[in-house]
Amino acid sequence: MICDAHVHIGYYPRKGYDRPFYYSPWRIAGILDRCGVGEFIVSSTCAQMEEIGVADIVREARELKRLAGNRAHVFFWLSGHLYDHDPEMKWLESGLFEGVKLHEGETAWVKCRKKALRKILSVASERNLPVMFHAGEDVGCRPTKLAKVAREFPNVRFNFAHCRPMDEMAKVVADCSNVWTDTAYMAIDEFPKLRDYDWHGRLMFGTDLPVWQANERVGITKRYREYLQAFRETGLEAAADAAFRKFVCAGEKSLMMYRGQEMKMNKDDYLKGNEVR
Ligand SMILES: [Zn+2]
Repeated sequence: MICDAHVHIGYYPRKGYDRPFYYSPWRIAGILDRCGVGEFIVSSTCAQMEEIGVADIVREARELKRLAGNRAHVFFWLSGHLYDHDPEMKWLESGLFEGVKLHEGETAWVKCRKKALRKILSVASERNLPVMFHAGEDVGCRPTKLAKVAREFPNVRFNFAHCRPMDEMAKVVADCSNVWTDTAYMAIDEFPKLRDYDWHGRLMFGTDLPVWQANERVGITKRYREYLQAFRETGLEAAADAAFRKFVCAGEKSLMMYRGQEMKMNKDDYLKGNEVR
């Protein structure tokens, strides 16, 4: 079963709508079920809505875990304002979050908030939490720029999302053994190019569901199926699923089904895949 390393819930702009649209846990979990997705990494775009606080994001994560259980690996999208609100990151105590997502375009962590970034990454290192960074051509988000952060924290696993620019990303993945990438929001016709590079077992399938609807009037279940089919045609699915498992669980760790229900899991069993789960 395919694993999707890049999914969102929460408020997000939608083409043709004058206000952000709410992509509820129910809606997103339903689409993933219909498309036959196994596990997925999900973060909330609500982090970008200043009027929504930590408590709301925790509640939303809990709702998703109720619907999808341990198939959902929820990352906390940590924006500057949410960090300032709770610099001790007490939301980690909920046990719901398995990683952190950062977006240099939304909060300039590397450029302006180095001290806070170091603190976040130290916590990630201590707690074995993987970190996802938006990456791309945009200012501050180039893979080579983010690679400096990855080198400073060699024990933290990073996903530099979106696999672009592809050449530059491939070099960074080759140089930094703690950097993964994903295929989120790539153009489908770029997929065949992925086979031209050695991804060292660290290329994950990702979609950016439901972000397509921000720019196009498109049914997202239909689009998801097309995207998945195009990726399968590259023959990289099995490698991408193995990469996903290593990213979410590279060390011995316990996963939470939802609060209070802890599932101890053996690393080797987990990496074997679906049969044992
Ligand atoms: Zn995204």
